[in-house]
Amino acid sequence: MQIISACEILGIDARQEYKGKGWRADVFIPNDTRPIAFEIQLSPQSLSKTLQRQSKYIQDEILGCWFFENPIPKLIEERPDLPVFYVEDDDNSTLMVNLGTRRKINLLTFLENFITNNIQFRPIAKTNSTQTIKLVFYEMTCWKCKELNHLFYVATPFHSSCNADIKPEEALWESNSIEYRPEIIKLATDFADNRPELNLKLVQIKERFSHKVGKSYMSFGCYKCDSIFGDFYVMDAKMGVMYEIDSISHIGQVELMETFELDIPHWCFPEDGHFCGDH
Ligand SMILES: [Zn+2]
Ligand SMILES: [Zn+2]
Repeated sequence: MQIISACEILGIDARQEYKGKGWRADVFIPNDTRPIAFEIQLSPQSLSKTLQRQSKYIQDEILGCWFFENPIPKLIEERPDLPVFYVEDDDNSTLMVNLGTRRKINLLTFLENFITNNIQFRPIAKTNSTQTIKLVFYEMTCWKCKELNHLFYVATPFHSSCNADIKPEEALWESNSIEYRPEIIKLATDFADNRPELNLKLVQIKERFSHKVGKSYMSFGCYKCDSIFGDFYVMDAKMGVMYEIDSISHIGQVELMETFELDIPHWCFPEDGHFCGDH
């Protein structure tokens, strides 16, 4: 009923309980170029049963779109041949539609955009060039000169314009950690400069030769004596702070010099009209 009345508001012709060859849609949009069948599935239905019912729509060149209340067992990732969205009532008993864990929108907004093809499948998620990130600072004493240094890490994932979480450490991005990127370093140094009362002694990040490894690589090192901080010790110090709630942190915006992508198949609904991976 909510789909029908939403379509009425949008001026879209929608038929209830519409029957075709081997299928019966809860709501059918008899669009010439892109007919759509909406299926509302409140009782559990297995993935194989859903795919079997979906194949009838595919045969008839109809886009079958499913609303489930509960996750489909064994459906581990979103797929192009099966648009599935999870619905729930909000406090005002308006149906809300979840696009994965990325966005939650009301039914009207969903229908308006899905029917007009503003929600499209994409196999990858791509970072926005502007990112809001959280830096967390932690301490480490130089093993050589015993001076206290402040290190930092990026505590939040990056996001695509459709709000998918993109974890930099999962992206194929050289072998360097995200903290070595110039734009991230700048965010940290600007923060340290603007907050002198915190007395942050930021580590120096640069290429250093490691005798142990036998080559040069990007590393954290002592701000005072330039001694290299080995990855293991850095990781150890970071682990110590990760679950602390009162550590020094800073939320700020960075402009990424290059965007990056992760294989995250998803139904993309970008906030700015730029679908993931499109140029
Ligand atoms: Zn030192
Ligand atoms: Zn996307």
